[in-house]
Amino acid sequence: MKKWEEHVRRVTPYTPGEQPCDPDMIKLNTNENPYPPAPGVRKALASLDTDRLRLYPDPSAGKLVKALACRYKVGEDQVFVGVGSDDVIAMCFQTFFNSGKPILFPDISYSFYPVWAELFDIPYETPALDGDFRIVKEDYFRDNGGIIFPNPNAPTSLLMAQKDVEEIVARNQGVVVMVDEAYMDFAKGPSALELVKRYDNLLVIQTFSKSRAMCGMRIGYAIGSPRLIRYLNDVKFSFNSYTMSLPALELGTASVADEEYFRETIGKIKATRERAGKALKEMGFVYPEPSANFIFATHPRHKAKELFEALKKRHIYVRYFNQKRIDNYLRITIGTDAEMEALFAALRDETGE
Ligand SMILES: *Cc1c(COP(=O)(O)O)cnc(C)c1O
Repeated sequence: MKKWEEHVRRVTPYTPGEQPCDPDMIKLNTNENPYPPAPGVRKALASLDTDRLRLYPDPSAGKLVKALACRYKVGEDQVFVGVGSDDVIAMCFQTFFNSGKPILFPDISYSFYPVWAELFDIPYETPALDGDFRIVKEDYFRDNGGIIFPNPNAPTSLLMAQKDVEEIVARNQGVVVMVDEAYMDFAKGPSALELVKRYDNLLVIQTFSKSRAMCGMRIGYAIGSPRLIRYLNDVKFSFNSYTMSLPALELGTASVADEEYFRETIGKIKATRERAGKALKEMGFVYPEPSANFIFATHPRHKAKELFEALKKRHIYVRYFNQKRIDNYLRITIGTDAEMEALFAALRDETGE
């Protein structure tokens, strides 16, 4: 070890899903949207004046903040935007989880949470989901340094009822509670956004990546009380004032403008999810009721890991987590109907079911 290495911060990084360079692949492993972004996004990109790239972008991201405030009927002082919700959540960890008490998130959940906690030296505890993979709300009724959980949860796709979300928020008004709604647009809802008016300790985090088909643009946002947003902005402006590029501001705004396209693609994905659920069931797979754009499935007679490997050989990528309790499950992103048919043909072939 070199002398200078003694004081290097060592971390175990998050492992993102594979992004293979395989032109023939069917990619159902990272919950991307199979449809393109709204047509207005293409137009906004085509008409982007590149001369404007000479200048710094608006540090307040005003245009996009305004569009989101209008869309979700909240004040502009209630919206914070960042470079994907990963950036927003990381910023929230730094801003709000400083009590020294352990923060709480489920044992089976978004695997980035423990990575940020470690990075920022935040102690954490991970209450276990129950046998049906449900979040046990009572586990969150105790002294803690803050709470975060996804709803619907990842990778289970399970939705928590609004009254349970509210109970967690209501019983934890001494700390900040973050609900990560990366997949809420695919669920019956309702979103915890409805609760923001009543609880100034609640932050709802959403993203353009999944439901708006813009993973590649990196846009996420948090909505909460003006006080929470002010604290977040103070940390952001102490770190990097220009997180949102000009293209992100323009293209994101264009996406929000097209509500009809948004509803239409989400409708298609939900319909495919319904059909996919039936097809999987017919083959003998079992899965928790899906509320996101993926199904978390296991088979009583076939090993998930083997299916995962066999599918990969056929250029079909799904997600497999080699993690206790869920190591016999596949997380299958909902693709187009044609992609799902190809997956089912391969699964029938591999399983003989
Ligand atoms: C995808 C995802 C995110 C991050 O999305 P961004 O692309 O960074 O906006 C956050 N939370 C959960 C649960 C996710 O699945």
